[in-house]
Amino acid sequence: MTTECRICAGPVEEFLDLGRQPLSDAFRRPDDTRPEFFYRLAVGVCGTCSMVQLVEEVPRERMFHEDYPYVSRGSAVMREHFRGVAERFIAIADDPFVVELGCNDGTMLRTVAEAGVRHLGVEPSGGVADLAAADGVRVRKDFFEEATARDIRAADGPADVIYAANTLCHIPYMGSILRGVDALLAPDGVFVFEDPYLGDIVEKTSFDQIYDEHFFLFSARSVDEMARRHGLELVDVERLAVHGGEVRYWLARPGVRPRTAAVDALLAEEAELASRVVLDGFANRVQKIRADLVALLTDLRERGERVVGYGATAKSATVTNLCGIGPDLVEFICDTTPAKQHRLAPGSGIPVRPPADFADPYPPYALLFAWNHAEEIMAKERAFRDAGGKWITYVPEVRVL
Ligand code: SAM
Repeated sequence: MTTECRICAGPVEEFLDLGRQPLSDAFRRPDDTRPEFFYRLAVGVCGTCSMVQLVEEVPRERMFHEDYPYVSRGSAVMREHFRGVAERFIAIADDPFVVELGCNDGTMLRTVAEAGVRHLGVEPSGGVADLAAADGVRVRKDFFEEATARDIRAADGPADVIYAANTLCHIPYMGSILRGVDALLAPDGVFVFEDPYLGDIVEKTSFDQIYDEHFFLFSARSVDEMARRHGLELVDVERLAVHGGEVRYWLARPGVRPRTAAVDALLAEEAELASRVVLDGFANRVQKIRADLVALLTDLRERGERVVGYGATAKSATVTNLCGIGPDLVEFICDTTPAKQHRLAPGSGIPVRPPADFADPYPPYALLFAWNHAEEIMAKERAFRDAGGKWITYVPEVRVL
């Protein structure tokens, strides 16, 4: 199947179909009998600009609303990560104006606010925006797009930094976003964003990075093309270990900042990344993981072993719904996010419970859905291992640890 690229209108060829999927963050009350929303989750690559993207788009208001449950502050590693980012932005200019798209609960901007630096968060999900405001962050409850950007520019002047973490890849209407960046960015300002990296996704076969909210899977090449088409230049890239492997892209107006050697090195590394050979190989490995995971969980059920899920992540919806994993295979999923607890995971209907239930008593097996926080979680849950518990992971392959 071929669709039209959301960046350049070129032909997008589908290479992976992950089936009928629910909204990845729609955790339902057990007594909610309304039909769930489903869409077809499939991924394609643009033959012209090489952008990897979903072939079907979910309306944004279905995903980002008052009850959007993801909060950035849930992970100590991410809190530290964002403190480091904030300190760099504070020092970037005299009296800088820092704008963050998708500021969520204000984890990054709080450091900026506490330093007395001018800032604004743009966040459409009301509940998390309120958390940011309660922490002293100046926040506008809105979707960032061209009109919002023009409004901010008129009210607050140009931005020295426009930043977005795990947000830009969520936004299909990229033309409006980049026209907005152009309207708001100071002549020597930087547009910085970090998102899951296609190179890591392919290398680790981390197919669960693909879900409704992750519309684009960026690479240096596709971002380079995207920037150029919108009067910007990719001037630097940084590989990040967070969230299973990301890249931070630095864009500026042409000629304002020299392009670093890191950009050329990553572009060279990516020579074959968006080829059909590489992407079809990825798709085949996904099907193998699916078959192996279903076989393992079915075998454990037949042997009467309990399996509990760890981390009711948005990513886990892709895995459970692709593999047909329900409460018969995974008893419940424990998660620290209050908004997800005592609800049912999307599509699969697996109950979500507070972390205390994990240890009451420990199950023999835990399926680690939050594998991107594996180190942090395994260190925190040493008692589970001491009690004889085993972790099941499925990225880059199904393993029992
Ligand atoms: N930046 C935070 C982080 O990295 O932890 C939050 C990331 S969260 C996965 C994505 C956020 O983007 C959500 O809080 C969502 O409401 C927000 N978002 C979605 N579309 C947006 C838009 N057009 N403008 C600004 N924020 C948006």
